[in-house]
Amino acid sequence: MTVSEHAPFTATVLGLPRVGPRRELKRATESYWAGRLDAEQLHTVARDLRRTQLTELLAAGLDSIPVGTFSYYDQVLDTAVLLGALPERVAGIADPLDRYFAAARGTDTVEPLEMTKWFDTNYHYLVPEIGPETTFALHPEKLLAELSEAIELGVPARPVVVGPVTFLKLAKATGGAALDRLGELVPLYRDLLRQLAAAGAAWVQIDEPVLVTDLTADEIELVRRTYAELAEASERPAILVATYFGTPGDALPALASTAVEGIALDFTAALDLSAVASLPSLADKLLVAGVVDGRNVWRTDLDRALSTLGTLLGSASSVTVSSSCSLLHVPYSLEPETGLDEKLRSWLAFGAEKVTEVRLLATALAQGTEAIADDLAAARAAAESRTADPRLSDAQVRARLDSLGPDATRRAPAEERRALQAQRLDLPALPTTTIGSYPQTSAIRLARAALRKGEIDQAEYVRRMRAEIADVVALQEKLDLDVLVHGEPERNDMVQYFAEQLDGFAATENGWVQSYGTRCVRPPILFGDVTRRTPMTVDWITYAQSLTDKPVKGMLTGPVTILAWSFVRDDQPLADSARQVALAIRDETVDLQSAGIRIIQVDEPALRELLPLRAADQPAYLDWSVGAFRLATSGVSDATQIHTHLCYSEFGEVIDAIAGLDADVTSIEAARSRMEVLDDLNAAGFDLGVGPGVYDIHSPRVPSVEEITTSLRAALKAVPAERLWVNPDCGLKTRGPVEVEASLRNMVAAAKAVR
Ligand code: GLN
Ligand code: ZN
Repeated sequence: MTVSEHAPFTATVLGLPRVGPRRELKRATESYWAGRLDAEQLHTVARDLRRTQLTELLAAGLDSIPVGTFSYYDQVLDTAVLLGALPERVAGIADPLDRYFAAARGTDTVEPLEMTKWFDTNYHYLVPEIGPETTFALHPEKLLAELSEAIELGVPARPVVVGPVTFLKLAKATGGAALDRLGELVPLYRDLLRQLAAAGAAWVQIDEPVLVTDLTADEIELVRRTYAELAEASERPAILVATYFGTPGDALPALASTAVEGIALDFTAALDLSAVASLPSLADKLLVAGVVDGRNVWRTDLDRALSTLGTLLGSASSVTVSSSCSLLHVPYSLEPETGLDEKLRSWLAFGAEKVTEVRLLATALAQGTEAIADDLAAARAAAESRTADPRLSDAQVRARLDSLGPDATRRAPAEERRALQAQRLDLPALPTTTIGSYPQTSAIRLARAALRKGEIDQAEYVRRMRAEIADVVALQEKLDLDVLVHGEPERNDMVQYFAEQLDGFAATENGWVQSYGTRCVRPPILFGDVTRRTPMTVDWITYAQSLTDKPVKGMLTGPVTILAWSFVRDDQPLADSARQVALAIRDETVDLQSAGIRIIQVDEPALRELLPLRAADQPAYLDWSVGAFRLATSGVSDATQIHTHLCYSEFGEVIDAIAGLDADVTSIEAARSRMEVLDDLNAAGFDLGVGPGVYDIHSPRVPSVEEITTSLRAALKAVPAERLWVNPDCGLKTRGPVEVEASLRNMVAAAKAVR
């Protein structure tokens, strides 16, 4: 089988968003969970969304369209279902949809799969569990159904699956290395290929983003063998292996040496273009060139993209224009963003606009640049207006940053701080606290919506938020927690909250991006230099403190997280943007301290997420990210206790950096990954305060006192009592008030029992 037997295609994207342009799928899914919709109604909403999307992409002129990237929750979980690899504990749930959601979210009796970040993005996938009891079996029904649905619409459908190497590398394996199971998966994928071909697929896309991470020579050889074997299958579609989020390095020649027909590369990453262009084994392949950034929102520099494409033209049998990765990571369309300033808007491209860019570039490739002359001119004009914009450079902020000396990132030694703080705070052993947010009740959401629509004024909004704060403070006093929080009712999304108050950021109205399951976020857009106009949190926190004698933690978000969860500038190094944000946060900590706040938490849940995928790039990142955190937190006195919070993922690789943050107390997600993190911290010589999350807030389950007691006892084996804090593993905003109260009551009881 050669690629010429399959029509090469010219314009595509690697995957599609699925929550719906107005988050229709989110709403329907949550209604299904609440029992307000039945499965049939949910499927109908999903099917309508897929059909509309496919029809639009067809009309936009893509000649190969990904199918099967739709998901009710997560594509990795879908792959686990495809391969028959759901854990045994959900097997008893007869209804397939409920079984699926049980694996995703847990039930009263079943723990969900762990969730962690998808490479260096803010999307979370569910971690497949593979054990000796796992017997793989192919269940291609979902993919086949979506394929035939697309074919019926006349769509040139290209089914997409997560590849076997990525699937296994991302899985959590017990009883042997996950990759040892590759031999069992290859026949299933071959069978799948056969069925997809029979169903009419000319191409299949197999996603192997793991190829852009550091792989050993043995692993690369496994990749080669796997794809050589898949390519040997006699009945199959042409195979496109997709890599993204970076460069495949040595895995590229290995992959190219196999008989797969196509390879997708991310040309927005620092890829060595000449090395790709001169790779002889690419000569007979379709090269899918990801020149349109699939994970940031800037308008593509069409001239540069065309020059990249031009360099590639001779090196492959054909070159296809594509997004660099799935469009899952950007909002659907700029169209509803009428609130953005015209200039900024002209610098941007969301999902729909990226599809247009792909189509334009493919047209230019086929017909010459004259064919898109007007569009080229418009893109150039937008780029010029961007570089000339005064908001891109604030002399004052830059001068302030330049004048900072090394003391700006240093506090007194930890023991000195500990003594001062202990005296000032007078907390019991194993102090109990929470991570910051309390449930975002419907009253909160209604108030926010009413303010937005102008139905209530700012004063009324503040009154309602204060009432929420008072409730949350009263609840915490009733539950007898030791360090209180104000509950963050005024923040829908914390990063959005800060970005809205900082100059240099813009907010969208409808720029939703899936974070996990039905949780969507609207990442702000950082386009210019950052300055803080006025205090951002002081009124809320001091109000909460006025209601209680117990210490209330001030709650801020750290510079790395603000950037990680925003669309960032592509015209200066991220490290420079981080220092600007850090300075704004630092000013806020100083204001909180002046207002009498004794504990300030600066959340950095995304510290791990931005870690570069390749080890060689990590030290430089850790250096600037830790530096930015310290810049943000070293402006306060030594008697002010700095907390930080980190969540999701294995912290192994960043453990030294966690110590480097030098926060007096670090709360850390550990409930889902079972306290492993404490051993890692000890091994790194970490000796500051630590609150390993004692229960998992990502599931509605209420943990029992016994369960939490057991975790605390386990934690005490690793951490001395003087350093141990007791807290859930993350904020409580996505949970319901009833389960939160019950869970915290059990948590406090467990802390008291262990004391
Ligand atoms: N303080 C934030 C909250 O409680 C932290 C959120 C997070 O870790 N993602 O919601
Ligand atoms: Zn968290």
